[in-house]
Amino acid sequence: MAKEKHVISKHSAWYFFGVLAVSIFIAETLIMLFFAQFLPHSKLASALLDSTLLITVTFPVLYLTVFRPLSIYIAENKRAETDLSIAAVAFQSRESMMITDANNVILRVNQAFVESTGYSAEEVIGQTPKILKSGLHNASFYAAMWDSINQNGVWQGEILDKRKNGEIYPKQVTITAVRGKNNEVTHYVGMHTDISMLKKIKGDVTRAGLHDPLTGLPNRLLFSERIHNALAIDIPYRILSVVMIDLDNFKQINDTHGHEAGDKVLIEVARLLKEATRDTDVVARLGGDEFVILLNELTGAEACEQTLERLRDSLAAPYSIDGLTLNLSASIGATLYPDDNSDADGLLRHADEAMYLAKHGGKNRYVIFDTSAAAKRISLQQKLASLQHALNSNQFQLYYQPQVDMQAGKVIGMEALIRWQSPVHGLILPNEFMPLVENSELAAPIGRFVMKSAVAQLAEWLKLGVNWRVSINISPRHLEDPNFIDDIKIALSRHPEVSPSMIELEIVESAALEDIEKVIRIMQAAREIGVHFALDDFGTGHASLTYLRRLPVRTLKIDQSFVRDMLDDPSDLVMVEGMTSLAHTFDREVIAEGVENLQLGALLIQIGCRFAQGYAIAHPMPADDVIKWSKQWHPAPAWTQISQRRWRRDDLPLLFAALSHRIWVSNMQKLVDGNSTIVPELDHHLCRFGRWQYGLGFKRYGEYAEFLEIVPIHTEVHKTGHRIVELLKLKQLEDAQNEMHKLYDLRELLIAKMDLLAERVTTTD
Ligand code: C2E
Ligand code: MG
Ligand code: MG
Repeated sequence: MAKEKHVISKHSAWYFFGVLAVSIFIAETLIMLFFAQFLPHSKLASALLDSTLLITVTFPVLYLTVFRPLSIYIAENKRAETDLSIAAVAFQSRESMMITDANNVILRVNQAFVESTGYSAEEVIGQTPKILKSGLHNASFYAAMWDSINQNGVWQGEILDKRKNGEIYPKQVTITAVRGKNNEVTHYVGMHTDISMLKKIKGDVTRAGLHDPLTGLPNRLLFSERIHNALAIDIPYRILSVVMIDLDNFKQINDTHGHEAGDKVLIEVARLLKEATRDTDVVARLGGDEFVILLNELTGAEACEQTLERLRDSLAAPYSIDGLTLNLSASIGATLYPDDNSDADGLLRHADEAMYLAKHGGKNRYVIFDTSAAAKRISLQQKLASLQHALNSNQFQLYYQPQVDMQAGKVIGMEALIRWQSPVHGLILPNEFMPLVENSELAAPIGRFVMKSAVAQLAEWLKLGVNWRVSINISPRHLEDPNFIDDIKIALSRHPEVSPSMIELEIVESAALEDIEKVIRIMQAAREIGVHFALDDFGTGHASLTYLRRLPVRTLKIDQSFVRDMLDDPSDLVMVEGMTSLAHTFDREVIAEGVENLQLGALLIQIGCRFAQGYAIAHPMPADDVIKWSKQWHPAPAWTQISQRRWRRDDLPLLFAALSHRIWVSNMQKLVDGNSTIVPELDHHLCRFGRWQYGLGFKRYGEYAEFLEIVPIHTEVHKTGHRIVELLKLKQLEDAQNEMHKLYDLRELLIAKMDLLAERVTTTD
């Protein structure tokens, strides 16, 4: 506007001169004509002409040299005055303002600035705006800001600054570069609006939004911004580390000494972490007793380890809180970038995984994330993908293993066992892939496939007139799947001729069944449909009794690890017997897995477990082979014989004693063969059989002739044993072997006498 006025006034000056010149020219012409006509000799004419000429020349000169500059000066002064008063009014605004020179030295600030920063004008004039820095923005943030100012003349954005009292607060900032005549920057003007109130109103107070109120450390959000920023700058050969820290047993401190003490510990931990790291590192609290650190500019893995050691030791020193000495430690996990070439979230996750390993490795330690282990996990992803493919392309199939009643000589059911018929690797057993499946999303889809196929198979068998129940293994993850009950219903709905009671779902006694109440609810819902449950691998978990007592199971499956060794280890025999009688007490059915030989079967019958499954009966087989197998199967004659005897529980130790004698002899054989260096107990009072014979045996059967005949045989057994050991000491191996023959004869004699005693004490049907 001012410029326009100036142009107009310039034009009017020339116009004025033009009109003046023309008027003077006309006036002079008229003067000359007048004098030439009426007063040709008068001197007045030349005087008049001279003065007009003088006026014509001096007036513009005066105008240009004096009046015009003077009027411009006055006009400009007036405008500057107006500008200044406008600026002064603006300067009094509610917004903080700051003016710096081209070197960013503060020249002026307004009252609002003084109020919001807490600094007086005198304190900041002469300083640079660095005085306000919170330290929460990194160099790249400021670099981007200056880029914008230099290129566009202005920058606008949100900055976290620090007041004089140390409080960090958010503000909306506009910085404008003021340029001079030659376009060079003469000043910068900053206008700041404190938006902490605004954020508070929004429920997003920046300090709380970006900082942990207890320790004042950056929180997860700010930390993640800091890693993102750090990764955004590409600095060659730079090594960073993300360190995750979780305090060990912190909950205990809270529980024992109260939350106030707990809070103080956390504040102290924050301080220790800051102390153990450099200013350029970022320490943050993620919540609870979890902290995280970004170690910047490390020189290598070794430097990182040194810092981790320092952190671990510093956190493990005793804490003095409210006159109490508290002991604490930390589990620390770290990952190193670019060795671990992940993004910010990946680094955080990996540090967390490493921390988890440290915790489970015994706490008070650090673990550095193993990138090669991560590579293995990628191959796990690939494996899962190929399992999914196997499922889609029907490569899974079910094998069936018979379950029999040894006493009645009857097949009672079949356990469905999954197999993977891989076109590349051939037949793959479940132990190779099910553990993987059970921890994955595939647990439910594969479980559904097994249910569907097993029920369909049952329907097939029903058509052929066989009425076996089918046991289906259920993975804990499928059991807890929200659709589990529907899955059973759907599988059954396709074959209405199959009664739900013919289905037995085997669940493993496993830590995976964490929420027992929930498991009970699911099982009850399934029971309402009519299916039964079995507790698989019973005895291997740590909560067998709880599960047996609380879960609505019909059957208990004794794990094969106990059954298999029953003949070699009397304590396993005692365990199996214990589990069997426990099952009877709780009115549950009991079945032994892993019956690998007929003798085991006989022993099981004797201790009251008549149902069995194992290689001695049949290996798992394809469904098509099952009928043929069942037609030719018959129980071992010894089982039928033994089954006719009824054992009282009190007489079972007799059975155990006979078994321990067999084991004693086979151990002696191992010694002679050089397969063992352990000498069986030579004292005939102290071996297992001796302890039974002189203890319980004598008490219970002392008056029976069958028992009394056993005693001298057992003594002779030990004499022979002594001789064998002596011969071995003399390295007379052959003689020792000959003595072994004698020992076998004695064993047969002793067992025969024991059988006679057993016949005497048991009843037949
Ligand atoms: P499990 O349910 O305890 O099944 C018994 C396992 O013992 C079967 O192994 C069977 O072949 C094996 N076995 C049977 N008799 C004997 C014996 O006398 N001696 C020895 N040493 N082993 C015997 P398999 O088929 O390899 O299955 C292993 C495990 O895989 C099963 O143990 C079960 O936990 C799981 N599994 C199998 N099929 C499925 C399934 O369809 N779904 C789920 N979730 N798990 C399954
Ligand atoms: Mg099973
Ligand atoms: Mg099992």
